[in-house]
Amino acid sequence: MKEIYFSNFKESGKLKNAVSIARTSPKSFTGKILKQLSPTMAMIQRFKKNNDGQWQWFLEAYTRLLYRRIDLEQLYNSCKGKVLLCHCGKDELCHRIILAKTFEIEFGAVCKEVGGWSIPFNKSFDEVKQFMSIYINYNGTEIDAIGNYKKLADAKAN
Ligand SMILES: [Zn+2]
Repeated sequence: MKEIYFSNFKESGKLKNAVSIARTSPKSFTGKILKQLSPTMAMIQRFKKNNDGQWQWFLEAYTRLLYRRIDLEQLYNSCKGKVLLCHCGKDELCHRIILAKTFEIEFGAVCKEVGGWSIPFNKSFDEVKQFMSIYINYNGTEIDAIGNYKKLADAKAN
């Protein structure tokens, strides 16, 4: 299994296998861009405007965005062996860590940050259960979408 690395443009933008997962990429960046994995501009603006207390909101909004995608597994496959980049510094909470955890939970990915994860939030990701829950209706019952991406994607496809 190929690992997926995460980093930012400043540190890893010149790497050959770098892929942008940012809403907007620097002009100097010539690598592949997977905008499908970026948060929406509205989400970024709300999160940036007042970072305090917005993390929980951002975490849920971005996770919901990912789980709504029917092509998430294909996107995951195209990320294997790549270094996924956004603008944020190593110590900032941002969608990189959420995407990494989602890939781990749903597809058994091995996700690493270039230089190692350093944000404290990473700790609570050690246990899948501590990530978060998004309850949705599935065949008439409420189930947690987290950890059930494939099951839900199959249901959508049928
Ligand atoms: Zn970021």
